[in-house]
Amino acid sequence: MKLVINRLDFSKMDTNKIHAVFPIIGHEKTIQLLLREVETGSISHAYLFAGRDQIGKRQVALKFVQALFCVQAPHIGCGVCPSCEQVAKQVHPDLHVVTPEEGKTSISIDAIRKLQATLTLTPYSAPYSIALIDSAHLLQKPAANALLKTLEEPSSKKILILITPVPQRLPTTILSRSRIIRFITPKRDDILQGFYRYFDRSLPEKMVQYAHGRVGWIYQMLENPDEFQSIVDFMQQCTTIVVKPLHERVLISKKILEKKDRDVLGIYMTQFLYWLREESLQALGDIGRGDKHMVVRYLQKALLVSSDFVYTTNRRMLMEQLWLSYPK
Ligand SMILES: [Zn+2]
Repeated sequence: MKLVINRLDFSKMDTNKIHAVFPIIGHEKTIQLLLREVETGSISHAYLFAGRDQIGKRQVALKFVQALFCVQAPHIGCGVCPSCEQVAKQVHPDLHVVTPEEGKTSISIDAIRKLQATLTLTPYSAPYSIALIDSAHLLQKPAANALLKTLEEPSSKKILILITPVPQRLPTTILSRSRIIRFITPKRDDILQGFYRYFDRSLPEKMVQYAHGRVGWIYQMLENPDEFQSIVDFMQQCTTIVVKPLHERVLISKKILEKKDRDVLGIYMTQFLYWLREESLQALGDIGRGDKHMVVRYLQKALLVSSDFVYTTNRRMLMEQLWLSYPK
């Protein structure tokens, strides 16, 4: 089975288009598995795509929808017909994408009710109505309960695709009714080779290092070199600050975080946690039993802080706490 992925000139693309149709790097086995289900007609009525943020889950979902809708290359998706293009741009009348509204950190029951009303209609031109709920862990409780009704009434014309990096935050009632597809984070070498293949270009070393497998993040950084530079500077400061004595950490952290807005702090926090994860894994492999407990305790704290981070009004304070309590 040949996977059809457009060869794109990255330098000529605008940001919106990149998010809509960038080439998928990695996930070959997952795509093959899904295409086989399309080909054999053994499609589930609900899928849950689980895996790290920005590694390509939504792109694979769109590829899956293309394969289901495409008339030119049925069961595969030609990638270039009007239907495939509409799916890639997420404007196909039978594809309904739900994400948290702009500026909101959750998906409301109203959004789910609206979706359900649309799903009761006959598909406009495709064989199915497909709902794609991205960041499904952000469904408010009443919204998740409402969605459960749709899951409990499977129909041969409706398919739900839920996407999340943290499936454990979804109610078990939703998990048990969905076919869970676990996405593997693309490996460093696969990313490097992928970029050579599609764009004939190599990536900056630090970009691959800080991506931690997030191909979507790399696309974002290539489009925003200033943002990338600020992350490089921030990570440099992070690795410096955690080895300093406590009184110096207080001063440096105040200086680094000064005048940074909520969104920037969010980006920094994510980056710091990815770094922390790798550092901790390394530390757990290297050191004695007593120290391992310290690392585990710190990691537990970091996890708690990160789960509060989305909602808290004082992100600066949480970030400081993590730096100050980092075990030497
Ligand atoms: Zn097509």
